Amino acid sequence: MTTTPASNVDTREIDKFSALAHRWWDPNSEFAPLHRINPLRLGWINERIAIHGKRAIDIGCGGGILAEAMAAAGAHVKGIDLSEKALKVAQIHLLESRLNVDYELIAAEALAEREPSAFDVVTCMELLEHVPDPASTVTACATLARPGGSLFFSTLNRNLKAYLFAILGAEYVLKLLPKGTHDYSKFIRPSELSAMCRNAGLDVREIIGMTYNPITKGYSLGRDTDVNYLLRAEKPT
Ligand code: SAH
Repeated sequence: MTTTPASNVDTREIDKFSALAHRWWDPNSEFAPLHRINPLRLGWINERIAIHGKRAIDIGCGGGILAEAMAAAGAHVKGIDLSEKALKVAQIHLLESRLNVDYELIAAEALAEREPSAFDVVTCMELLEHVPDPASTVTACATLARPGGSLFFSTLNRNLKAYLFAILGAEYVLKLLPKGTHDYSKFIRPSELSAMCRNAGLDVREIIGMTYNPITKGYSLGRDTDVNYLLRAEKPT
């Protein structure tokens, strides 16, 4: 493990993702849910802001599932994460996909200081529930977006149903995710994420739910935000 000067990071979280990183692109691995939801979230982003030709930054990009999909859709993508192993996997996968993504090991806060207002699109998916101070991450995302830019977040809601589905269901019953992947206390209610966005000067535009059907093993987007949800915000001009 390399040490990093970033402070808004839980190194146990990074170690957890680093240990599994070599399996990132195996669609039947622990990362299967990310592969499954990827077309949905990419479609949602692309419907809202046609990302072709846009400058996008993916915060907590891991092995690059969303970053590559945005690059394939014609965006100029940078991906950042604090897991060196995940970024190595992401980098190697570019040889196979022949796509172009600029990966860097840097904290969102540090990049925000270096490149404020540099991006048309900021994505931050399935990350906030793994960081010690999600509000700081949201503020960094807001700084990275240009005025008029769009931000897309996704995380897990915090209530009894989210506990039952995201932890008991996904980790213990269906075994979609390794035990210990998620910590219930770090789940974030849509109202809390909205407040973080507003405090960072962003306008919240949309909140939609993402649900898993264990029979069809499919995910879909809709009105049910009880467990997984996505939030779109804009930085005012
Ligand atoms: N956003 C990707 C990966 C989600 S998995 C996707 O949705 O496909 C969570 C990722 O967050 C992992 O790659 C992990 O290394 C990273 N991560 C955890 N804590 C972080 C932090 N404080 N800063 C940046 N990345 C972090």
